[in-house]
Amino acid sequence: MPSLKAYNTFGVDVDAKEIQIIQRADDLLALNGSPEDYFILGGGSNMLLTQGIDKIVLKNEIKGIEVLQENDEGVVLQIGGGENWHETVLWCIDKGYAGFENLSLIPGTVGAAPIQNIGAYGVEIKDFILGVHAYDLQEKKAVIFNKQSCQFAYRDSIFKQAAHKGRFFISSIVVRLSKDVFQVNTDYGAIQLVLDHLKVDVPTITDVSNAVISIRQAKLPDPAEIGNSGSFFKNPVVSADKYERIQEKYEKVPSYPIGDQYKIPAGWLIEQCGWKGKRVGHTGNYEKQALIIVNYGEATGQEIYEHARNVRASVAQKFDIDLEFEVNII
Ligand SMILES: Cc1cc2nc3c(=O)[nH]c(=O)nc-3n(C[C@H](O)[C@H](O)[C@H](O)COP(=O)(O)OP(=O)(O)OC[C@H]3O[C@@H](n4cnc5c(N)ncnc54)[C@H](O)[C@@H]3O)c2cc1C
Repeated sequence: MPSLKAYNTFGVDVDAKEIQIIQRADDLLALNGSPEDYFILGGGSNMLLTQGIDKIVLKNEIKGIEVLQENDEGVVLQIGGGENWHETVLWCIDKGYAGFENLSLIPGTVGAAPIQNIGAYGVEIKDFILGVHAYDLQEKKAVIFNKQSCQFAYRDSIFKQAAHKGRFFISSIVVRLSKDVFQVNTDYGAIQLVLDHLKVDVPTITDVSNAVISIRQAKLPDPAEIGNSGSFFKNPVVSADKYERIQEKYEKVPSYPIGDQYKIPAGWLIEQCGWKGKRVGHTGNYEKQALIIVNYGEATGQEIYEHARNVRASVAQKFDIDLEFEVNII
């Protein structure tokens, strides 16, 4: 039974029944089983394996980037789902295609990017998606989702919802990027601060990407050195009432208004509960960002999961907020 340790960024050591590499979309046509017989794997950077996988693991290695349309304003690309996300971002920047630069250095594959509608620094993949090509393992046919039918939301899409999870193998995505390289988005996080520090007045997409990379490298643990899956929880959105109650006690609670509600950083809530940098056995919360749960090397998926549930329980007790897992618990 092959080990999946090298195939998940938490570095959890569990076995799979079998690993089958998918190199071309046509390989999918030969799959005779039902969705329950398979487990779809990209880069393993958004999952916590709490048990072995007694299924055939389909490892997405469908490569290739094709220019479908191009004019002076922009370009439409079809990108193979097995392409590495960050390498794709760098390829686009090199060609002068603008849009993905704020999403630099996110681990994983292109095919997994629409699943949780990856986002960072004020940008989400949904901003560029025209369509998603997938193979329906249930009906055994290729299907195309237009942007609307993907039902994108904050770290969510139709592909992540329980009723559809594991049914559609995303083989490629179709995106529109701009050639207007000066339409960069530097408002979010510390991007503008870094650019000011470097004395960049009119940032190019390369400048923005480099700023994002340096911020992320300073703040996030590299899975090659310390196992993790990035943000473990989603940032909760709470009612104005609840927000005001928290604010009465914690004057400086950070928040972003969303309509008449407020999004509060989950990392802040977890930090207030005393978890930042706290180690419990082989797991714990990262010292620079409490939102990230790490594996110090020997943790089992069950141990990490139990820790995550304890973190969630303490936030619920202190703030009456139920955090939702961003990471897929398998
Ligand atoms: C250090 C670090 C930083 C991160 N930062 C961010 C961030 O800033 N923003 C963000 O949004 N995410 C972030 N993530 C999470 C992660 O990188 C993304 O969610 C990424 O898109 C996962 O890609 P993957 O190929 O590794 O997916 P996997 O972990 O392999 O799979 C994730 C889920 O999608 C399913 N799946 C994978 N590929 C396919 C496919 N082709 N078709 C159908 N289903 C599929 C899997 O079965 C699983 O349920 C971070 C992770 C790490 C480790």
